[in-house]
Order: sequence, then C-alpha cells, then structure tokens
Amino acid sequence: MGEKRAALLASELGIRSVGDLLHHYPYRYIDRTKIYRIGELSEDNASSFVQLRGRIVGKAFLGEGRKQRLTATLADSTGQLELVWFQQTKWVDKQLELGREYLVLGKPSFFGGKANIVHPEIETVEKFLSRGNLGMQGVYGTTERLTSAGLASKGIYALVCTLWERIKENITETLPDYLVGRLDLLSRREALQNIHFPTSPQMLRRAIYRLKFEELLGVQLGILSVKAGRTSLRNGFLFPRVGELFHDFYENHLPFKLTGAQKRVVKEIRSDCTSGHQMNRLLQGDVGSGKTLVALMSMLLASDNGFQSCMMAPTEILARQHFASISKMLSGTSCQGRVAVLTGSTKTRERREILERTASGEILILIGTHALIEDRVKFQNLGLVVIDEQHRFGVEQRAKLWTKNSQPPHILVMTATPIPRTLAMTLYGDLDVSVIDEMPAGRKPIKTYHLKEALRLKLNGFLKSEIAKGRQVYVVYPLIKESEAMDYQNLYDGFDNIIKAFPLPDYRVGVLHGKMPPDEKAESMRLFSEGVNHILVATSVIEVGVDVPNATVMVIESAERFGLSQLHQLRGRVGRGGNQSFCVLMSGDKLSREAEARLEAMVETTDGFKLSELDLKLRGAGDVNGTRQSGEAIDLRIASLSSDGQILEQARLIASTILEEDNSLSQPKNRLLAGLKERYKPKNTIDYGMIS
Ligand code: ADP
Ligand code: MG
Repeated sequence: MGEKRAALLASELGIRSVGDLLHHYPYRYIDRTKIYRIGELSEDNASSFVQLRGRIVGKAFLGEGRKQRLTATLADSTGQLELVWFQQTKWVDKQLELGREYLVLGKPSFFGGKANIVHPEIETVEKFLSRGNLGMQGVYGTTERLTSAGLASKGIYALVCTLWERIKENITETLPDYLVGRLDLLSRREALQNIHFPTSPQMLRRAIYRLKFEELLGVQLGILSVKAGRTSLRNGFLFPRVGELFHDFYENHLPFKLTGAQKRVVKEIRSDCTSGHQMNRLLQGDVGSGKTLVALMSMLLASDNGFQSCMMAPTEILARQHFASISKMLSGTSCQGRVAVLTGSTKTRERREILERTASGEILILIGTHALIEDRVKFQNLGLVVIDEQHRFGVEQRAKLWTKNSQPPHILVMTATPIPRTLAMTLYGDLDVSVIDEMPAGRKPIKTYHLKEALRLKLNGFLKSEIAKGRQVYVVYPLIKESEAMDYQNLYDGFDNIIKAFPLPDYRVGVLHGKMPPDEKAESMRLFSEGVNHILVATSVIEVGVDVPNATVMVIESAERFGLSQLHQLRGRVGRGGNQSFCVLMSGDKLSREAEARLEAMVETTDGFKLSELDLKLRGAGDVNGTRQSGEAIDLRIASLSSDGQILEQARLIASTILEEDNSLSQPKNRLLAGLKERYKPKNTIDYGMIS
C-alpha cells in the first residue's frame, strides 16, 4: 500500500508489519450466508447486524440544512422498512435507483413498532452475487482517521485478503506436534485462515481456541520459567533465628491477638526466609485485614538476624503514618529509636543524619516513599524490602530497590487490591502468594447506602448524630487529571457548604488534597487522626492506607465517577475499629447503566474479591484500576483475562508440566516452545539471575 496509508496504519493501530496485520483479528463476524426477510425482523434481532434483500420503492429528503436527512423505503414480499442517512446524503441518493434490487446490511432499530436502519451498507444484488458466497465476514477494529482514508473495516478486510493470498504458504507452526495432536488443535495456518475467513462457526470457534491457547501458553511459559530460574538459585539471606526482639514484641507489645490468617502468613514468610532462596511474596489482604502488622513482624525477624529492612509506601502521608504507628508499637522494645522515616520533604539536615545512620546499620527499619530508591540511600545490610500498596510503584522502581545489595533482599509486596485469580496468575505468576482472608475479630460489616442530592439534608443530620457519638467523618471528592480545575472547584465548593452546615465551635472541619504543601498535609492528617477535627474533606489522596479507627463514616461525592476498586479502597478507610461504620455514595440523578451497576454492587457486598471480579468484567483486564500495568506487562491479542479463565488454567497446568520435565526447554521436541516463551517473556519481572 501507499506510504501515507502505511504510516496511518502504524500510528493509529500500531500495525507496522505483515505480522502485525496478520494478527489484527476481527472483533466480530457477520453471517453473510443468512438473508433476512423484512417480516422476520422484530425487537429481538434489533441492534445486531442483519442482511436484507429488497427493492427501493420510494425515497425523499426530509428536513433542512444541517439537519437534512435522506430516507428510502426498502420493500420485499413480506414488508417494508425505512433506511435513513444523515451524512453524505447527496452521494447516497445518486447510488439509489428507484425500483432496483439491493442487498442491505445494517442494524435495525424500532420506533413505535416500525423498523428502520440508520446508515446501512448497500450494494446492488448483482454485485453481491458476483462476489460469491462470503460466509462469515470479519469486522475489523479501525479508527475515524483510518476510515476517512478508506480503511474502514471493509478496507482492512480487503488488505488482509490480499496479504493472505501472498503468505498463506509460508505460515509455520509455533506449537510442537505432540501438543497439537494431544489437544486436537487446529494447525497455525488453519487457525489464522479461519480467524480471518471462517468457513463455519465451528471452525471459527476452534481457531479462536487455538490462538488463545497459544498466547496464554506463551505467557505462562514465560512467567513460570522466570520463577523456576529464581528458585533454582540459592542466594537468599537466611533468617534462622526467631530472636529476642520478635519474642519481646509478640509477648509484651502486641496490642491485640493476631488473627489466624496473620499467623499463617508470618509462618509462610518465615519459612521463605529460612529456605535459602530469595523470597518474592505477594501478600494480598482486603483493606483493614492487618497487613501492616505482618510486615512489621517480618521486619523484626530480619532485625533479629542482623539485617535491616525498609518499607516503601506510595504516599508521604502513608509513610508518615506507618512510621508513627510502628514507632508507637515498638516503643519499649530494643528497636525503639532505630526506626526512621525518609520522604521527599525530609529536611536536609535530618536527611543527612538518617542516611548516615542507615549506612552504618544503626537504623533497623527505614520507612519512606520513593525517596528510598535514590542512589544516596545506602544500607549496611538490607535483608528485607516491604512494598506497601504495590500497584502505585512502577516496575523499574521496584527493580531498583532490590539492586541495593549485591545479594538480593527478600521482597514482600503487599496489596489490598484483590486481584482476580486469572490476573494474579498472569501478572504476578512469578511470585508466591499469601492471602489474609480473615478480618480481625469484632469488626462489623460496613453499611453502604446510595443517596441522591435530594437527601442531602438527611445525610447532614446523620453525620451530626455520628459526630455527637464522638465519631469522625471523611468526605471525599473525585479528582481526575482531565478535569482537575473543575474538580478542585467542586472540592472547595463542597468544603464551603460543609463549613456552613457544620459551623464552629461545635464542628471542626479540615481539608486535605494533593496540591497542599507536605507539612500542611501532614498537619491536616494529624488534626484528623488525633480527633481534633470531626470532618475531613479530601480528594482521593486518602484512598490508600490511611488508618483512623475512630472514623466511622465515609461519604463519597460524585461516586459515579470513581471506579469500583477505588470505591472499595475508599470504603476501607472506615470500619477499622469496633464501631458500626457507614459508607454513603452520593451521586447525580441520571446514571449510566454501568455506573448504576457499580454503585449497586457496592451497596450489595463488601467482599473485595467479588467486586474486583465484577470490575474486571465491566472494564476489561488492561484497565482495572490499580493494575494498569497489566496493559504493558502482557500484550494479549486475543485471549482475555476476564473471560478466558479456563483456557488460562489449562495453559498454566500444561506449561508447568512441560517445565518440570524440561525446565530450560532445551529438548528437541520443545524447540518451538522455547521460541514461544521468548516471544511472551514478561516485561515487568526482573531477571533474577542478573542480580546474583
Ligand atoms: P491493611 O491491611 O489495610 O493495611 P492495617 O494493617 O492498616 O490494614 O490494619 C487495619 C487496622 O486493624 C489497624 O488499625 C490495625 O491496628 C488493626 N489490626 C491489625 N491486626 C489486628 C488484629 N489481629 N486484631 C485487631 N486489630 C488489628
Ligand atoms: Mg495498609
């Protein structure tokens, strides 16, 4: 094709090579073997594509100027229907001859029982027949700019046809015969042919299956061999002692009893740290399940064995809060005074001192933000790295932390975003996973309500009654980059309204958002967490990790604008003490169906896993909040992590069986698999072999 179109294909769809085009699969198919009668159309087949054959028996221009439209009446022996065009009406009018027979393709819709099709594709019956039987025709993804350059779905289809004729003889197999045979898969050539030009619905299904399987097998081979590479090394620090510090803390300072799940996870971590292998563990636990304590106990274990630890949090507020609560828990132990916090806003002198004490080994636990990654932060012997709310950290940032030693420290990654199994197997397939699946005793499930503006006064009354009981309230506003200025305006307006409704001296209201200077932020957080302020008006900066057990109400403004996992995270800020807590979702009156579904789900369940499964369904894997990196990390063309769970499980099982027998894929029969593995090698995992 010409250079211009080629450049457009590259910039719009990332199609740069013959291979890219070959793997640009249709996202839908139209069955062109079926021609409907007009009389057969009903509300049931509305909004799916149908083909009709009939004569144009009338046409007219209606309306004026820009609103002008062209309508034509199509008739067959069973009835009539209206065709409508709003654009290019003059041109279409020229194509339509009264009395002539046409083949029409489009999506019918119904108005008052009458069918019409807006912007159908039309061609004369002679032309349609001359092209022979089309079977199932693929519909290809395209863009507006490509469409106006003549590359609508049809244009891309034509390109693929030309391409296929030239290369079909050269398609080579990517899976070994023994797998193709055992699983009764289509060959790669058959699969590619049928994904573009299906000869039957059954062949199409098999083609899709084969291509999805190949893709997911590649991904699993890649991830599992990274893991196998790591576990084949014996370069993990050893923490054999459960020493004085750990015991002292456990027996004399632990403010509550550990839950069974916390105990189990501490054991799992301990066994990792005595195995001789480097630990790489993902700790999943719903908000409020007590991950911080598990992290702390692991860090004490490191200290008992002469190693330093660091704990990295995604925000300054969170880092300072961890520091405050950990220092408090450790006061009176031999670790007292040997904990420090380092963030971007730490003053120069204090920073210098902390850096020195860290390098000398005096600091046992260093808590901080991204500031911990900087090169000037040097440890004497870093043995354990804890990363809290991991999804906020870029992949390279994590990698950098673990290269602070010649020998890799143990890594504990903690996340409250419940990750659906399929996604976890793919994104974190190289990590071992622990789950805290039990909440501390005495927690009451949070009650969630969805209210609209009309009930605002009632809400205020409710907030006052909670404050009268000595409780505290969060009010959160959305803040989205694209609408930042307006969102801030909403926040300030909201703040003003709240001050009016909750006046001094009875009520004290604070504000917290990302644009405040760090010390003001810290001060605002302090006033709230010490119970001085009753209400905290904030943007979603408080989404992650903030812990004020006395806060019992979370009001989320414009809740329809938040994603499900964000809503769940926000709600997790309350319900942390023994008191009944509440989450109130305020929304506009008119909601999209998806927003309605999200808010309904929040009201119905507090189960983070259920919510994340739903989120995955509603939004698709690449976009699930908090796991956005999945988009870059795994490049899936056809398989979907939200709907192909079964194929994924199968691929994983097969991949691990193959690797067990031939972990480097060096046997001749696995030669093709070695290539497949390379192609799908995960980009976001560290090559652990490189570090040692
Ligand atoms: P998250 O898993 O969301 O990080 P945190 O570690 O912040 O949760 O813990 C939430 C709250 O529960 C904190 O106030 C913490 O002190 C408390 N907590 C943790 N473990 C227990 C436990 N075993 N029993 C009672 N309260 C606990
Ligand atoms: Mg936490």
